[in-house]
Amino acid sequence: MSSTTLDLLQKYSVPGPRYTSYPTAPYFSPAFSEADWLDALNAPAPGRALSLYAHIPFCDSLCYYCGCNMVATRDYSKTQPYLDTLGREMARTAQQVDPSRVVRQLHWGGGTPTYLNPDDIRRLMAMMRQHFTLADDAEISCEVDPRELTRAHLEALRESGFNRLSFGVQDMDPDVQQAVNRIQSEFLIQQVLDWSRELGFSSINLDLIVGLPKQTVASFRRTLERVTEWSPDRLAVFAYAHVPWLKKHQNLIREADLPDAATRLGLQQAVNEVLGAVGYVNIGLDHFARPDDELVRAQQNKTLWRNFQGYTTHKDCDILAFGVSSISQTADVYMQNDKNLKRYQDRVGKTGLAVERGLRLTRDDQIRRDAITRVMCDLELDFAAFGREWCIAFTDYFADALTDLRPLADDGLVTIAPDRISVTPRGRLFLRNIGMCFDRYLKVAASERPRYSKTA
Ligand code: SF4
Repeated sequence: MSSTTLDLLQKYSVPGPRYTSYPTAPYFSPAFSEADWLDALNAPAPGRALSLYAHIPFCDSLCYYCGCNMVATRDYSKTQPYLDTLGREMARTAQQVDPSRVVRQLHWGGGTPTYLNPDDIRRLMAMMRQHFTLADDAEISCEVDPRELTRAHLEALRESGFNRLSFGVQDMDPDVQQAVNRIQSEFLIQQVLDWSRELGFSSINLDLIVGLPKQTVASFRRTLERVTEWSPDRLAVFAYAHVPWLKKHQNLIREADLPDAATRLGLQQAVNEVLGAVGYVNIGLDHFARPDDELVRAQQNKTLWRNFQGYTTHKDCDILAFGVSSISQTADVYMQNDKNLKRYQDRVGKTGLAVERGLRLTRDDQIRRDAITRVMCDLELDFAAFGREWCIAFTDYFADALTDLRPLADDGLVTIAPDRISVTPRGRLFLRNIGMCFDRYLKVAASERPRYSKTA
């Protein structure tokens, strides 16, 4: 292991955003109103298709690392008023949107979407199809928890038109599973993957997490080797965000069990080595895909984009997100729904919407969002091309960012040429830190910033 890289990891391990949005969610304003959101929905959006998201917050049990908005319950009756509320919210939203706009992408996340029984899976998808028009070749994906899943759930998803699945695997080691309260055997995962392939889902993604308690480099190598034998089309390897001040239940994780900086670096190196050895291509921050995957092609063509669902090929879509805490996005607006389940349902019951906060982006926000996204997707920024697109002189506009990038260049994380910035292979571990140099909202004192998870 290179001690230099470890030194850098310690040096650059600072609180920072993951940039699934810019500005980041803590800057969304409660002054953003329902009228503001209706204006955004009604605004002309030439050439922009739709991406729909439905948030199903329910889970059978609590994983201690969870960072999602979820409700652990065995009371299935809670799902019925929730599905009714989703139906109302979709109906109200669809009234505002040009009906000729087609849905190119649809995703269910949570929580656990497959907490819904097969009949309710069919019911929810029928509601979405009632209010919106899905393209024949739409990418329709669902997050799946292998535990408590039956073949009938997968049949209901397939019949409803889902063509992509994303399974939460996280770590196969029994000690780690115990430490995070998520027990799932190899047999179980093998079985649900077999069912998925028999039913004809065209793309299977597996999610893993590095930085979990009790993880060692040796144990995680075994997880990686087992997972690659299952040959998923994509892998997402997220870094665990330990934020117990935001997610109180993370206090159930013993801090002494969390891997130290050297182990975290070893884990990242194991990920790159094992997945690279069997041909997966690293996409930006945390995704891996087969060389013929459209994410890889999009990265090569510089059409990759990043949003709340991670890396995507659908840059020019407005995201209409339904459900508690979900975040919608148009070209220049973010809107987040109420994060409290009861309030979300009450508010939709009254007006059909549950706007809690949002933001209309300034032109500067849009320019900086594009710069951060280009760095995190393309791993380089061409000054002239970027400047032409936004009608700016790049080196003047981003003089502050270029100054802030200089120490990172000195540490070998980026190269700064007269015409472009490029992320070096070593710099890939520090993409969040590189993005932070373009973030105007971080130019305030650290004590005035939101508390983010550590970047490395
Ligand atoms: S299943 Fe997913 S959403 Fe539910 S508690 Fe576990 S990590 Fe969180």
